Amino acid sequence: MDPQAFRILEKKRRGETLSSDEVRRVVAAAVDGSWGDAELAAWLMAAAIRGLDVDETGELTRAMLASGESWDLAGEVPRLGDKHSTGGVGDKVSLVLAPLMAACGRPVVMLTGRGLGHTGGTADKLESIPGLDLGLDRELCLKALRDSGLAIGLPTGSIAPADARIYALRDRTATIDSLPLITASILSKKLATGAAAMVFDVKTGSGAFFPELEDSRALARMLVDTSAAVGKPARALVTDMSQPLGRWVGHTAEVREALDCLEGNGPEDLMTVTHALCGELAEMTGEPLRPGELDGAVASGRARERFVRWAEIQGADRDWLRSPRLPLAPEEVAIPAARSGRLAAVATRRLGELLASAGGGRSKPGAAIDDQVALEVRRRLGDEVEAGDALARLYLRRRDERLEAEFRACFTVADDGEAVGRLVDRIA
Ligand code: URA
Repeated sequence: MDPQAFRILEKKRRGETLSSDEVRRVVAAAVDGSWGDAELAAWLMAAAIRGLDVDETGELTRAMLASGESWDLAGEVPRLGDKHSTGGVGDKVSLVLAPLMAACGRPVVMLTGRGLGHTGGTADKLESIPGLDLGLDRELCLKALRDSGLAIGLPTGSIAPADARIYALRDRTATIDSLPLITASILSKKLATGAAAMVFDVKTGSGAFFPELEDSRALARMLVDTSAAVGKPARALVTDMSQPLGRWVGHTAEVREALDCLEGNGPEDLMTVTHALCGELAEMTGEPLRPGELDGAVASGRARERFVRWAEIQGADRDWLRSPRLPLAPEEVAIPAARSGRLAAVATRRLGELLASAGGGRSKPGAAIDDQVALEVRRRLGDEVEAGDALARLYLRRRDERLEAEFRACFTVADDGEAVGRLVDRIA
């Protein structure tokens, strides 16, 4: 084995800080294949256990970014912003935020992901729209931004290819939940578009990737500090995911709810989070929102019109856009409260996993999704309920008593239960 590679592995195993050159060497070796899976996996494990400081994480991010294309769009689209969520259940904020900001003259670009496990992916949700094509190259991205003020797509293979190899090995080596590795993975793809500023929505609570507040805060801090280290203004909001966001979970249902938001009928929790993220992004890109500006964009119909204009540019069926048909799976099943009291807890991650196992999500990469499977949440934490009240409703392809019982077990009604605020912390 290459003696330099061996020294890098030894150094990280001992918990020493790597130089910029050494971090770049790891990424170069991941890309050119000169490190096999054994060396790379050993390095990932050492990095996950010993950690990487902000400088090492920044260098890892830069090197992973430099392994592929950079679009540098902010040079051509002034005040361009980007938003990223760490994912949750019912999180359709991106679908609302981008057209809303676009309608206020603040363009937004988002390279987004597919869902896996308990979370739904923005790309999968949007694919409920017939014809919509999320394959974006720089040219189409610029066209969408210029003509509609927003562009949403999947990262192509030419963006941060180092991440693809590293992520696949992390998945096999129990190193997925390492904060610096997550941070470099997210940022290397986000930075590729070259937005002027980024806002992160880091979820916390039972449906979040990191349920504990302390871990969510640490991830938010690492994302913001590493962005600063690579010269990109960024802020993070830590937002609640101890129950689904909004009323609906499921691909088609979430597109429908996003359209409702753009028509002025969005649920309060979802709009609170969306508005807060919009506000941060607008400030960072140099033009804070005026009071009432977001509501005005919705009331005038401009926000919805932006969504339609964008979707058309990216191939959506025009007839469908004129009159969207978003049917749900046919078997409607109520989830009743087992007793009277207050809704005290929701096993949100489990809800997402159960919905996936009913077909409405993806348990392994590449699996097909039934986008009409859905869950409608009727009660919020802290709400008073009577025994037998419908806490939620399921929309399934076929009835399944065992599965329905598992859904019922996700909701705890007790004597006491507290309402939760949606905005938990702000990291700048
Ligand atoms: N999203 C990514 O792109 N990478 C991670 O490591 C985690 C979430």
